[in-house]
Amino acid sequence: MSNFYVTTAIPYVNAAPHLGHALELVQADVLARHARSRGRRTRFLTGTDDNALKNVTAARAAGVEVRAFVDTNAARFAALREPLSLSFDDFIRTSADVRHTTGVARLWRECAAAGDFYRHTYQGLYCPGCEQFWAPAELAGGLCPEHLTAPEPVAEENWFFRLSRYREPILELLESGRLRIEPAARRNEVLAFVRAGLTDFSVSRPAARAGGWGIPVPGDPDQVVYVWWDALTNYVTALGYGSDDPAYRSWWEGPGERAHVIGKGIVRFHAVYWPALLLSAGLPLPTSILVHDYLSADGAKLSKSAGNTIDPFELAARYGADAVRWWLLREPARVGDTDFTVDRLVRRSDVDLANGLGNLVNRTLALAWKHRAGRVPEGVPTGALGAACDRLPALVDRALHDFDFRAATEAIWAVVDEGNRFVEAERPWDPAAADRLDAVLGALITACRLVATELAPFLPDGAARLHARLLTGDRVARPSPAFPRLGADGLAGADRLSGPGGGPGTPAGR
Ligand SMILES: [Zn+2]
Repeated sequence: MSNFYVTTAIPYVNAAPHLGHALELVQADVLARHARSRGRRTRFLTGTDDNALKNVTAARAAGVEVRAFVDTNAARFAALREPLSLSFDDFIRTSADVRHTTGVARLWRECAAAGDFYRHTYQGLYCPGCEQFWAPAELAGGLCPEHLTAPEPVAEENWFFRLSRYREPILELLESGRLRIEPAARRNEVLAFVRAGLTDFSVSRPAARAGGWGIPVPGDPDQVVYVWWDALTNYVTALGYGSDDPAYRSWWEGPGERAHVIGKGIVRFHAVYWPALLLSAGLPLPTSILVHDYLSADGAKLSKSAGNTIDPFELAARYGADAVRWWLLREPARVGDTDFTVDRLVRRSDVDLANGLGNLVNRTLALAWKHRAGRVPEGVPTGALGAACDRLPALVDRALHDFDFRAATEAIWAVVDEGNRFVEAERPWDPAAADRLDAVLGALITACRLVATELAPFLPDGAARLHARLLTGDRVARPSPAFPRLGADGLAGADRLSGPGGGPGTPAGR
């Protein structure tokens, strides 16, 4: 089995994390846990982008010293680990890790040795929110298309990187699929951008404008490294690229997959700029770029200024990691933004987890205790349930390879739905079914265990509770809810929602 190295983007720490950050972390976590469950050697990296100018601006606005401000917010991102049940192996902080500063300096020198830097006086329109210059033609009515704010005119002398040299190799990389971008819509956007031609871009800023914050350009301390150049390199500096660490050689130069999970707003940086830097330095490239769209909340963009950030800590404290993770994995569209509401999270958890899966497991355990003192008879699923079970692992593998969490969770839920249909059809509680009770119970237990196993990367906590109920020596546990009902009006309220993955309950009020 080959290596699997997966990363998230490293967020700016100008504010506390919001639900969009939780989405990306949970997606990458599922990929990492799934790879481990299939026996692949896996490493999962996340961290924070401490060196952005916008962090400096935010600290000044808050009246707090930059170091203290950045440390506080970076700690909040790292603290998402427990409430969201994340399994990252490493957390890099670009302002605080020596391995990062040494790695940035080394990569800079490699690109300089390749002749890819030159000094240039530049005038342009800069969006501090994006930390990038925009061409006038790219603006939306004169505004930054990401932030809908007017970019600032900036004129200064910076170091430039010869991106234009790398148009052909990057085009070949994308067209051949050696650098895979999922979904295809995002790949096509990048291809169109590269085909239109690449222009050199500035990769340093005057140290004075940054208030001295950031990583000095090697050999030119009046300039600091452009925050995007700095941030992108974290994927190799965290592995010890700067010190020739064996981890770097194993995870980045060795065989296997190197996957970046990112949001749609930063595809260009990852699919064009980052490969160009690596090509310039003669380093291996990532193999996959997996792109998610955005969440909105109650119909509005998630942003601090809009006042609807949705605090993932509060959500997890109130509803639990399972419910939050489940909504993030089950509902967001693969392409297109998705609106979050607390009501949707509650209903999705109640319909799928408390009703659909919870009922299937509980009625199975109840039957085992009523008729067999909790002992588990031999039996394998047959018919439609057997077919759904047989297909499941490969369907999950395929869906996650395609970065399609909806398809993966739908495949698991197909087994849950078949399981509930199987119970209704077999009627094992009926005395007339006594002669096939063992076979039915054995099939149900086997199917439930498979669901718990395949569900573990998605809901590590809930899957552990299911396994504890389904695997206790020669008996199963006594029935008890594995997933709490979250809706205020309980079962009747939850059952009103039907649709894909809905449980077997009868709509209330009929
Ligand atoms: Zn912007």
